[in-house]
Amino acid sequence: MDSKEVVIKIRDLNPHVVCSLCAGYFVDATTITECLHTFCKSCIVKYFQTSKNCPMCNLQIHETQPLFNIRLDRTMQDIVAKLVPGITEAEEARRREFYESRGMAVIKRPDENENEKPPVEDVVKRDYSENRNMYRDDEQVSLCVERYEESKVEENEDDTEENRTTETVGILTKKYLRCSARMMVVQLQKLLRMKLNIPGEKQVEILCNEHIIHPFRTMKFIWISEWLNKQPPMVLHYRVRGPA
Ligand SMILES: [Zn+2]
Ligand SMILES: [Zn+2]
Repeated sequence: MDSKEVVIKIRDLNPHVVCSLCAGYFVDATTITECLHTFCKSCIVKYFQTSKNCPMCNLQIHETQPLFNIRLDRTMQDIVAKLVPGITEAEEARRREFYESRGMAVIKRPDENENEKPPVEDVVKRDYSENRNMYRDDEQVSLCVERYEESKVEENEDDTEENRTTETVGILTKKYLRCSARMMVVQLQKLLRMKLNIPGEKQVEILCNEHIIHPFRTMKFIWISEWLNKQPPMVLHYRVRGPA
């Protein structure tokens, strides 16, 4: 699986990198933590002025403050930037046109200077290097991801009342990894699903210090709350649960 190259057409990826509110590629991709649907930050923030439900699945995001349950999605934005070089500038120009045509103000980025715009080619070049820096400058954490071993497992369990059992799953071939401190548990869960072929109906749990970690916690959060005075790598355990 690791050594095989997978060819994916951009056309097939489009539905996953396009905002359903503005029909453009994500700009400042922002994901609702309750249902994992992604939109442009400005699109979803604006949308919340009139609704507290997800525009795609209609799930109530929060009773009163939907902004509490959205997060900037750096991973998704990185994917968009890699798929469509120069997209950030192109989308901003398109949106500026859209808002200005309706007499609305556009929130400008701090580094934006209307009078001294570099030529388009420079913009694209700068975009590439910025993406590279963005990636490199992300704070990194070292992880050791191991299978959770139940401390005392009875060989002959006849615990038929239990409808959720711990499944035996494979062991990662590469258990040490470095990742962005912004990575969320949910992304690690997705990675494990892929690497270990865990079917969708099973639940992947991530634990640190025997505590189950919420899917929307970042690695940085776990480090601060569970690993502050310990040596790297931070040890995380995974276990798979599912219907018996
Ligand atoms: Zn949008
Ligand atoms: Zn949704």
